[in-house]
Amino acid sequence: MSEQLQIAIVGGGIGGLTAALALRARGLNVTVFEQAGEQREIGAGISIQPNAGLLLQRIGLTDRIKTIGAQNAGLLLRTSLGQLIDTAARPSSGVQSYNVHRAEFLKLLADAQPDGTLHLDHRLSQTRETNGRVQLTFAHGATVEADLVIGADGIHSVVQREIGLKTYPSSEGIMAYRGLIPSERLTWAKDIGGKMTMWLGKGRSFLCYPVSSGRLINMVAFVPTNLESEESWTAPGDLKALAAEYAGWDNPVLETIGALDQTFRWGIYDRAPLPYWSTARMTLLGDAAHPMVPHLGQGAAQAIEDGFTLAVLLEGAKRQDVPRRLKAYERLRLERTSQIQTMARDTGRFFRGEYEDVAERDRLMAKWIAATGWIRGHDAEKTAQEAVLLAGNDEAIG
Ligand SMILES: Cc1cc2nc3c(=O)[nH]c(=O)nc-3n(C[C@H](O)[C@H](O)[C@H](O)COP(=O)(O)OP(=O)(O)OC[C@H]3O[C@@H](n4cnc5c(N)ncnc54)[C@H](O)[C@@H]3O)c2cc1C
Repeated sequence: MSEQLQIAIVGGGIGGLTAALALRARGLNVTVFEQAGEQREIGAGISIQPNAGLLLQRIGLTDRIKTIGAQNAGLLLRTSLGQLIDTAARPSSGVQSYNVHRAEFLKLLADAQPDGTLHLDHRLSQTRETNGRVQLTFAHGATVEADLVIGADGIHSVVQREIGLKTYPSSEGIMAYRGLIPSERLTWAKDIGGKMTMWLGKGRSFLCYPVSSGRLINMVAFVPTNLESEESWTAPGDLKALAAEYAGWDNPVLETIGALDQTFRWGIYDRAPLPYWSTARMTLLGDAAHPMVPHLGQGAAQAIEDGFTLAVLLEGAKRQDVPRRLKAYERLRLERTSQIQTMARDTGRFFRGEYEDVAERDRLMAKWIAATGWIRGHDAEKTAQEAVLLAGNDEAIG
């Protein structure tokens, strides 16, 4: 049996694929197993904020991201009638952030994997931990063994269940309509550069930003609901119902809705932080570990931070070191991600507030800007390296 650790990542989403790249960059042997038989096009944008951009830069992905992304030039906050509230959440610390089309970013990450290390059509159905190894069984009957399993398999994680954990989704009482529109169809989008715009109004908000090098505008419209809408990213939505939600709003909002060919409904569900993430040989990252509501746009960034943290902690590890290293990983990540889960919830409430009292709005806005500064200024890799240095030796890491 080879001395090098064999690491299996379950889930080839943003979290799983970036973790694989980060781990390999530190000399680790990684294979990714993804349930999908092929990459499907999902019409959605996603933010790569500076705390994630910094890490991706270190593994040499920035030039490729530039070819697909739109540079984020900050966020304009407006009232529902278009009055400017603030140009908030400016890009921090000199690291550029990008807004990308999810499918284009996933393709970029998949293309960056060495041949033979990403196995599609492998849906994990169960795991068995014995004698310091884990056996993975896939839905089509194939089995593989690994020294360590990382569950990057999203909100309905099988690895989470196999670790003995369970999360309980509770509706936020809102749903989102989403869609992509060619920028050329929108008169208001001609001069926005890389700016994101969020309109805030009675119990709902409306967010637009460019992706695909500015060729497309990504729209996300959060509205109240008392329906148990599907926790899906692909359920079709009704354009007329969407238009009715925003009657009387600022012209760019109406123009954007009018230019949509189709929209998707997305029920927004929240989950409490998990008490722990790991067994001796299995752990979680990304949405499987800390699913969060989307209002801070940190879902992908936190998954990326997890992968880079694991890479630092696992570098040079032997089989017997794995349980201690996983506990160290959990200690470094659980508190920060739990805090961000809470901040994401609070941010959603701020965005959907009805502000008769402008002072109250500005107080909440200042709180949100402080939170985003703390989140975006973080260097997960450096934090992990400092923890290793502080620990001094392997015993202390454990
Ligand atoms: C289709 C889609 C659209 C999204 N849109 C948005 C958005 O608009 N805004 C936002 O903030 N966040 C969005 N998210 C969530 C965001 O992408 C995540 O928060 C972030 O990228 C972290 O992702 P992750 O890799 O942990 O999980 P995910 O992105 O969910 O990836 C999990 C991966 O695991 C695979 N998988 C699941 N179960 C198994 C199994 N049993 N065996 C093998 N593989 C398995 C899935 O097919 C998927 O590829 C979306 C996620 C998805 C899947």
